[in-house]
Amino acid sequence: MYDIIIVGAGPAGLTSALYARRANKKVLVLEANTYGGQITNSSRVENYPGIEFISGFDFATNLYNQVLKLGAEIKFETVIRIEKDKTVVTNKNTYSAKSVIIATGSKNRKLNIKNEDKFIGSGISYCATCDGNFYKDKIVAINGGGNTALEDALYLSNIASKVYVIHRRDKFTGDKKYIDELNNKDNVEYIFNSVIISINGVDKLESISIKNKDNEEKTINVDGLFIAIGREPNNQMFYNVVNIDKTGYIISKDNVHTKTKGIYVAGDARVKDLRQLTTAVSDGSIAATIAIKEMKE
Ligand code: NAP
Repeated sequence: MYDIIIVGAGPAGLTSALYARRANKKVLVLEANTYGGQITNSSRVENYPGIEFISGFDFATNLYNQVLKLGAEIKFETVIRIEKDKTVVTNKNTYSAKSVIIATGSKNRKLNIKNEDKFIGSGISYCATCDGNFYKDKIVAINGGGNTALEDALYLSNIASKVYVIHRRDKFTGDKKYIDELNNKDNVEYIFNSVIISINGVDKLESISIKNKDNEEKTINVDGLFIAIGREPNNQMFYNVVNIDKTGYIISKDNVHTKTKGIYVAGDARVKDLRQLTTAVSDGSIAATIAIKEMKE
């Protein structure tokens, strides 16, 4: 029996593990993919207090190693279900705990158009820092207008020969700092008021077709398409123990309480105003601290 099982090894989940281990609790972290969550896609984190600059991957790796050193168990298994009695069922095992913290974050939003899945790994990517190097001196497009898209565009502008940034609005919603930097790049071209209507190719991505708000269509030859149109939660499997809003995020009370006693939520998986690294680690520390306090009660 574990004191706390944490579902998700992103910044929120790993921070919960850090706090729980420092309180000497028996901790298991369950992660379906790789540790670190979405911050590992960020080539530069410059807004974490006390750290002027760090790559998202380095941040996540430091946190992961810190938690392992403190004695948390981390297993790479996919959680399928959580029962009210805090039994956690994965694709491989069944575990029981006194408390559970759900820190599942979110997954990449898809365009949901033909060939998107087929060309993942052969032209389509959701992570510029992971796959950017495959596009040295090639032509790439990025879809999206938030910070991820702008950060990806900056990163890829140093690798690819040409970078198109395609956005459905007439201006970007990401930080001015990134826009100012991008404006100084002569291999970056913005295509506003446009959406991607088809992804074309035989065995790999060859071109994309876009349509603007006047319904004019055009096809652009590209070697890579980086889709950076935000994230979506992945909480449907927890419906029996938490309340979920219409967009799929977990509704919490006092930040981290769910509707089930002893089951908590932390990080991007919950309804909240600001989804950032700072707020994820904040949630993680609060969830663990409250779980430990309520376990004693
Ligand atoms: P985001 O801010 O939600 O931006 C998503 C972008 O994709 C928006 O431009 C949105 O357009 C567009 N979009 C959404 N659905 C679309 C669709 N179906 N087709 C075409 N375009 C679509 O997501 P994000 O950029 O991934 O950022 C997520 C959070 O992480 C934000 O809070 C961001 O500030 C933060 N972040 C921070 C950093 C950093 O500080 N270094 C880096 C990356 C991300 P509309 O505006 O029209 O909806």
